[in-house]
Amino acid sequence: MRNGLSKDLIVRVLGAEPKYTLAELEEKYPLRDLPDGAFVTRFAPSPTGYMHIGGLYQALVDCKLAQQTGGVFMLRIEDTDTKREVADAVKIIEDSMHRFGLQYNKDEKYAPYYQSKRKDIYHSVAADLLARGLAYPCFLTAEDMEKIRENQKAAGFATGIYGEFARDRNLTEEEIIAHLDNGEVPTIRLYSMGNPENRIFCKDAVRGSIGFPENNEDIVLIKSNDGLPTYHFAHLCDDHFMRTTHVVRGEEWLPSFPLHVQLFRMMGWQTPMYIHTSTIDKIDSETGKQRKLSKRHDPEANVAFFLADGWPTEAVLEYLGNIAASGYEEAKMKGQVKSIWEYEMRPKKISMSGALFDMKKLEWWAKEFIASLPVDELVKRVRDWADEYDAVWAARIADKPEYLKNILAIERDNPKRIRKDFITWKQTLQEVAYFWDDLFVPNTEYVYNKDVLSAFLETFNVSDDKDTWWNKIVAIATEKGVKNGDVAMNLRVALTGRTNTPDLYSIMHVMGEEKVIERIKGAING
Ligand code: GLU
Repeated sequence: MRNGLSKDLIVRVLGAEPKYTLAELEEKYPLRDLPDGAFVTRFAPSPTGYMHIGGLYQALVDCKLAQQTGGVFMLRIEDTDTKREVADAVKIIEDSMHRFGLQYNKDEKYAPYYQSKRKDIYHSVAADLLARGLAYPCFLTAEDMEKIRENQKAAGFATGIYGEFARDRNLTEEEIIAHLDNGEVPTIRLYSMGNPENRIFCKDAVRGSIGFPENNEDIVLIKSNDGLPTYHFAHLCDDHFMRTTHVVRGEEWLPSFPLHVQLFRMMGWQTPMYIHTSTIDKIDSETGKQRKLSKRHDPEANVAFFLADGWPTEAVLEYLGNIAASGYEEAKMKGQVKSIWEYEMRPKKISMSGALFDMKKLEWWAKEFIASLPVDELVKRVRDWADEYDAVWAARIADKPEYLKNILAIERDNPKRIRKDFITWKQTLQEVAYFWDDLFVPNTEYVYNKDVLSAFLETFNVSDDKDTWWNKIVAIATEKGVKNGDVAMNLRVALTGRTNTPDLYSIMHVMGEEKVIERIKGAING
């Protein structure tokens, strides 16, 4: 601790009178009136113009923990890097949250939710620290710091601004005034009282209590170029005054964990509980090794990929939810719960080591989810996707909406035998594309029994019921000396170009008389 600065000097250092005292802030942002055990969580992305799947995972954990405890979940935009373009980037985040159904609370009482709009709060807390000698203005330039760094390296010391290397930590008021008179704008640094020879224990809900050397770096709290806080200081002020109880964030923050706990303790504020989530990984196709999903190399690292590719958002969430709460899949299979929102996620059990994101596993969740949809909902979702991402398909559907509904209704009436081959909205359309003449690809490899096809054409009547239709097939098989299945296969390939399809009778019905005749003739004459 050093001598605190006088009020006038604090105003000069910060460039303005602090708006609040700490007591006023405590009153303005009171403890929340929530039931015991309610979690207050927040998703706090930086607006980068990109929503990473790992971010969605964290947001889901945040939202779920708040939802199941009757708590509050917030979205806080960490836009303290003023070099970045923010407006569109925030839209991408908000839009992803909306599409994945992660609703956040916007209570005015704890607003604003943009860090760039919370400057008054940071400056008021900084003023308090300056007055108590727990922070100080630092006038080191980038060149000064580079020099310090080089000297430290040469002498084999740890790099950074700490202890004897923190040149300005004990400047007198007169010296500070001289710097200010010289037109220099300071950063505000923490006056760290930590000693790396001591250990500080930090509690993580998943990892338990972790011991670290105490932090002795005089880290920057407020930057000089824009007067905005660093992540560390914003985290302290915001999670205190937003009354966050649980900080869910990526494990890349573990190294600064001791610093954050030090800051809360220094303020005498309740330290939130932390949940450091593991990375979301994949198996690298070249090396065969597990590695973090990378923004640069993996399209599936981007949440937008799943939307454009037509994955049901619910399935993506279910899958991520099962990574966080590994008992979920079993509970769902046993019919104990219907969705992740009904399953209790236990913070202690959240995955701690790199979690594998396996597209094959996601496919399973997607198939299950799509199979659970009533046909009208399935049509709507496929159509919404096409309207947004595929104009050609959108036009085809708009032309004959009932046709798509009849197609998608095939093998959907018996709850025990619902088809499970639809994975994404896009793939669903590809899967049924043969129903459209412009997309139908005749099978040129299959060797048709043209006699069989001609015989079928002679007896075909689109209004036959299923038994009559089948009896005709059996009769043709007997007459031509082939198996019933051969007749069906000839028809199947002629009509769809494929050897594997859902119920053939339904397909014919939905296609209608004209198309059936045309395609069978096509196969006979082809
Ligand atoms: N803006 C930080 C990040 O994107 C937030 C970390 C946190 O949740 O505290 O990593």
